[in-house]
Amino acid sequence: YQAKRQKLSTCIFEPWMGRVVAEQLNIAKRLASAIAEKQLSLHFQPQVDLNSGQLIGAEALCRWHDEELGDVSPGKFIPIAEERGMIVALGYWVIEEACRQLAEWRALGHSMPGQLAINIAAQQFEEESLVANLLDSCASFSIEPSQLSLEITESGIMENPEKAIAMTEVLKGKGLGLSIDDFGTGYSSLAYLKRFAADKIKIDISFVRDMLTSDNDRVIVATIIAMANTLGLETIAEGIESQDQIAALLSLGCNQGQGYYFDRPLAAEQFVQRWLC
Ligand code: C2E
Ligand code: MG
Ligand code: MG
Ligand code: MG
Repeated sequence: YQAKRQKLSTCIFEPWMGRVVAEQLNIAKRLASAIAEKQLSLHFQPQVDLNSGQLIGAEALCRWHDEELGDVSPGKFIPIAEERGMIVALGYWVIEEACRQLAEWRALGHSMPGQLAINIAAQQFEEESLVANLLDSCASFSIEPSQLSLEITESGIMENPEKAIAMTEVLKGKGLGLSIDDFGTGYSSLAYLKRFAADKIKIDISFVRDMLTSDNDRVIVATIIAMANTLGLETIAEGIESQDQIAALLSLGCNQGQGYYFDRPLAAEQFVQRWLC
């Protein structure tokens, strides 16, 4: 069946496929120049203590507004950047911009509590130069590495677990925080998880979304929290949109969260006004 499918997939070519390829190429081309010309921006989503509602950190999320294409979501352009070898350059810009923003807030007298989380793609995690680059950006803006936390997806870790484990140890040694993003979707083995020097697990949005209506999802969330406790890891829930979700998460032992209930990802000025003043 596999062979048959491969054969079929190389034979069938419909006109719409050509349009999809052309569209992707156009996006890729424009993205390359947006990265080179530093036309991307970062938005910031608060992370809060679910008991007190207080700010405990934030996640930096990349945004791209293109003249011709309009706003392109990261769900669309990040995979293209990954496929076309642009994610490392994009990621280095994100790291630098995150440090610059922290320094700017500091200069304006707004101190950011906790850590600023940055998303790191699997390919970036395999770059030998990642550590030097992080430290360089921190040094340029007098930011302590411990003010940053890196988010790597569970599936990203599993692309090359041994390498990821080695990398986490180096990063940990430099004081950076480390979270496993989209947890529950990536088929990681407990054996690897134990060796991976993370300090936090981010419970994937899909389980949080459905935990009030699906017994299965509620049990998955409970199990993730219990497992994290056993391994000595903190947990944070992503995608919180209601007070009922907060109550359910607290009753299961998760006391950190992020989601539209608190705020959407915000432009820097808005983030300052609403959360840092
Ligand atoms: P992620 O890291 O899991 O980020 C969480 C996503 O959930 C964000 O989408 C955020 O806006 C969205 N979100 C937060 N709260 C809620 C909520 O209550 N409800 C719903 N429905 N969604 C919520 P966003 O900003 O579109 O980013 C999508 C993904 O793109 C991110 O998922 C991350 O994997 C990737 N990404 C974004 N910025 C970067 C970046 O700088 N580098 C890399 N490598 N990936 C990035
Ligand atoms: Mg993330
Ligand atoms: Mg996530
Ligand atoms: Mg995600």
